[in-house]
Amino acid sequence: MLQTWQKYTVFLFSVLALCLAVFPGTAQTAKHIVVIDAAHGGDDAGVLGVDGAAEKDVTLAIALALQKELAKGGNMEVALTRNTDRTLSLDERKKAISKINPALVLSLHANGGFGKNATGFELYYPGFSKAGAANKTAKAAAPDYGYLNDTVKLARLVQKNLDSLFPRQRRGLREAGIPLAEGLALPVLVVEIGFITNADGKKKLTSVKTQAEIAGALAKSIQAFF
Ligand SMILES: [Zn+2]
Repeated sequence: MLQTWQKYTVFLFSVLALCLAVFPGTAQTAKHIVVIDAAHGGDDAGVLGVDGAAEKDVTLAIALALQKELAKGGNMEVALTRNTDRTLSLDERKKAISKINPALVLSLHANGGFGKNATGFELYYPGFSKAGAANKTAKAAAPDYGYLNDTVKLARLVQKNLDSLFPRQRRGLREAGIPLAEGLALPVLVVEIGFITNADGKKKLTSVKTQAEIAGALAKSIQAFF
């Protein structure tokens, strides 16, 4: 026979067990916040490729596919700088990113030029030389370049997964001045996903199937990053 206090204890434990069963999410940590930047848009078409294919449309299509792909994991909150074909200045993008304060930013571009036969993907991240300026703007008390190491980690993951999707198409992983990253003390990676100025690249980058495959490779990289 149980005493009254024992009955209450059993009851409270049952309620606790039920709560954990019904709301398992409450025991987990907060979701990772990610920003996907579809470069260009609206009046700014970006690179114009074969048959009038525009960079702004390719970046938006892949950004939307990537958002969908990342949502499947259930552990991320994904924000896009734009989800329609609209003009967005660099300043507006940066303000939106600062407000959201994400764990990382992936900025999507498509390449053009270097002749009609240029192919492949390129990755750019802000160099350590730019870090001083970033910290000055971020008013950091002491320099903390941890986010730059994180950017390199993210870049390597993206490179690995795009490598499997596009074998022998790697053009490089480079440090560069990234206007979008200036003043932001968080990982910002620019992905030049391929060339729309050659027939094959344009065909691939405007195909819904390849766009989904690229989104899959990028989502896998972001998941692995966390
Ligand atoms: Zn671009």
